[in-house]
Amino acid sequence: MNRSRNTFVELAIRMIGFGVLIGTVFPFFMLILGTPPQIVISGLFFACCIIAGVIVGVVNILISKVTVQRKLTRMTGKMNEVKDSIITISANGNIGECSPEHCTIPVDTADEFGRSAQAFNELIESFSNSLRMLDGIKSYTATFSGQLDLHALADYALERVMSETAADAGAILYEQDGEISVLHSFGIRDAAKLTTDTHILETFTKGVPSVLSHPDDVIIESTLTQFHPKAVTIEPVLFKSVPIAVILLAKAEPFKAGYTKQLSIFTQSLAIAMHNAFEHEQLQKLAALDPLTGVLNRRFGLVRLREEYSRSIRRGAPLGLLMFDIDHFKQVNDTYGHVVGDRVLKSIAALIRQGLREGDVLMRYGGEEFLAILPGASREDVLGVAERTRYLVRDYKTRYGDNLIGVTISIGGDSMPESSVTNEQTLIANADEALYASKNSGRDRVTLH
Ligand code: GH3
Ligand code: MG
Ligand code: MG
Repeated sequence: MNRSRNTFVELAIRMIGFGVLIGTVFPFFMLILGTPPQIVISGLFFACCIIAGVIVGVVNILISKVTVQRKLTRMTGKMNEVKDSIITISANGNIGECSPEHCTIPVDTADEFGRSAQAFNELIESFSNSLRMLDGIKSYTATFSGQLDLHALADYALERVMSETAADAGAILYEQDGEISVLHSFGIRDAAKLTTDTHILETFTKGVPSVLSHPDDVIIESTLTQFHPKAVTIEPVLFKSVPIAVILLAKAEPFKAGYTKQLSIFTQSLAIAMHNAFEHEQLQKLAALDPLTGVLNRRFGLVRLREEYSRSIRRGAPLGLLMFDIDHFKQVNDTYGHVVGDRVLKSIAALIRQGLREGDVLMRYGGEEFLAILPGASREDVLGVAERTRYLVRDYKTRYGDNLIGVTISIGGDSMPESSVTNEQTLIANADEALYASKNSGRDRVTLH
């Protein structure tokens, strides 16, 4: 761009030049039209014509200055104001403040000026959209990144995306080891059915969003009524192009235009957070589990015992504890070797687990010793579980070649509130004592403290 050239100076030179040219040729036109040559061919007439031409040129410049330059100056002034607003707004990080009065210039004519203003506004609009997108990613990432619990993350994410898209109901589904589960849902009747819904499965397989209007299979449940949504959108959450989750949003009315862009920014941030939460969960599992038997290791098991002990004290609920020790396990190792011993140990852990209820906790307490925490179990329950497990183990045989290896276990237990213990360590010591009694009185038996 050549900044040294001024359009209005150029215009002035051309207009005055054109005026001089017209003034010079005008006397010849007069001659053709029949004006006597003694009038036309004179210095004075030529001078008058040229002066008239120059005057017309100067007036033209003044007119264009008044009309065009004034408009241009106003427009550049407004553009500068918009530029300043955008700089301030984006520095504050609140592009939401970019309202029409801040970030647009008026389009008040239907000519080139109006079209220039329109083009400028569109440019600013797309620039603001990019800033908004960046802002959205930044804000989602900031809020999601601290959340490492997958369910809490889904809970929070669904609430946020529903409020941003003004959806009436929604669900987040997650796929793990080929199994789809509902992580969190709001306002959808029979949300569990979504795990087998064809549209959801298709989004999980193809990784592309789908939009359904008036679907039959989704019912929104509000406080007073149930109704079919007019619009349902299913958006995949892609991590490295692989769908790891799916968001379903349902709305009584069609969604506002432009919501898909917002949704895709949202899912991009969510994908990273979900992946992190999943990895964290896996790591925690790995850290908490005994690699051979798959039950809780001693460290994490004892943390659980402390929690269950405090909970049962708080609620005044009973708590049982059982300690298991394999009888003469050394002989198994000595006879068949350590590898076979490991297999037997693994089977015994599984058998003990089988004898417990859903909420009970099993940990590997030592080499071939296990501890089971039985929250809410009465003394009879504790005894019942212990005897059932003892029989399960006694009847089981581990196959090794032609050999069938059978072992028995000795069990010691204690339960609250029958035993008045002051901490969980005493509960363990009591169970240990009872186990010792079982061993001493012949093994393969149960003793309660
Ligand atoms: P009892 O408890 O009936 O008194 O006899 P025991 O032979 O079971 O008792 P002891 O405590 O003397 O031996 C425990 C054995 O358990 C010794 C050890 O080799 C074995 N053991 C401990 N941990 C493991 C393990 O991870 N794998 C295998 N294969 N053996 C283990
Ligand atoms: Mg033993
Ligand atoms: Mg032992």
